Amino acid sequence: MAILVTKSSIPKYEEYIEEIKPIFENYWLTNMGPIHEKLEAKLLEYLDVPSISLFSNGHLALEIAIHALGLRKNGGEVITTPFTFVSTTNAIVRNGLKPVFCDIKEDDYTIDPTKIEDLITDNTVAILPVHVYGNVCDVEAIEQIARKHELKVIYDAAHAFGVKYKRTGIGNFGDASMFSFHATKVFNTIEGGAITFKDASLTKSLRDYKNFGLDEQGDVYSFAGNAKMDEFRAAMGLCNLRHVNESIIYRKKAHERYMERLANTKGIKVNGIKDDVEHNYSYFPVCFDKKMFGKSSNEILLELKSKDIFARRYFYPPINEMRIFRKQYGEADTPVAHNVSSNILCLPMFEGLSICDVDKICDIILK
Ligand SMILES: *Cc1c(COP(=O)(O)O)cnc(C)c1O
Repeated sequence: MAILVTKSSIPKYEEYIEEIKPIFENYWLTNMGPIHEKLEAKLLEYLDVPSISLFSNGHLALEIAIHALGLRKNGGEVITTPFTFVSTTNAIVRNGLKPVFCDIKEDDYTIDPTKIEDLITDNTVAILPVHVYGNVCDVEAIEQIARKHELKVIYDAAHAFGVKYKRTGIGNFGDASMFSFHATKVFNTIEGGAITFKDASLTKSLRDYKNFGLDEQGDVYSFAGNAKMDEFRAAMGLCNLRHVNESIIYRKKAHERYMERLANTKGIKVNGIKDDVEHNYSYFPVCFDKKMFGKSSNEILLELKSKDIFARRYFYPPINEMRIFRKQYGEADTPVAHNVSSNILCLPMFEGLSICDVDKICDIILK
């Protein structure tokens, strides 16, 4: 049987049916219904954050957070990483802001804080780093820079559900963090997402901006769209949340096996986990150095594919080498992101990937 790069976590059919039963009695399908409210409360607790707001997906959550933080400014610039999913960068551009690409670190692929300050101009309004693969950004250094230059910080934490740094939920860092609950993520509501934040005054704008800019009096004060989470998806979230810890333990076992098999191979670089971090094992990225290992990531990808195993060049190419970004913002000057992107391959990783499957994958790679 084929091994895909990921497989969505879903609850037992009966468990989900039980959770959606009340909807067939109360006819409350969406617009912050009782299941939505219950999920929001449970996630606040699980993520250990001061405030949270749920959305129809992670992308719109991020777009709206940028708007709600008051960052829309003519000619405004946001410093971000090119090593991410295009959602991060599109959220900046769709707010009328310019993405300024900062290179990443070799060791964990997150934004390199030593390169941020050179990119700051009078027009810079924010820094938007990504906890890529669940790897924690250098949050302390980033906070220091942001404070010094009076910039907002929004984290794309789409990969980092359940991650903790120094025993603190990852959603506590910066002014706001976006989590994605897309079907492929560690925790899913089929489609869905959230913003976690500190400043309580954001509660109102986030709530109104996901509902057409309508305020409680029914008046409109912003040209906002619609990004509400419905009851059926919230019910999926309640079910999946019950099992997410087991799911992370399952992933951890697969991660450990991959490490045992691949970590000491010449020409293969794996993603170590730092002290002080409770990881979620969301992905298993591997960098292949063709000169030392003898094969490129693309060759490994094709080799695996011929055996019905599907890895993914995630992320390739870096955002600033994609057509529209190249055209609009010029040539990329982020050599580390370029190299990592050329050499990286995400191996299959999901709840239910057996040790036997991991061995099969490693045997093919090491052959
Ligand atoms: C998945 C993802 C998003 C977008 O989330 P959706 O819920 O799919 O809209 C944004 N950024 C990153 C890094 C992601 O992986």
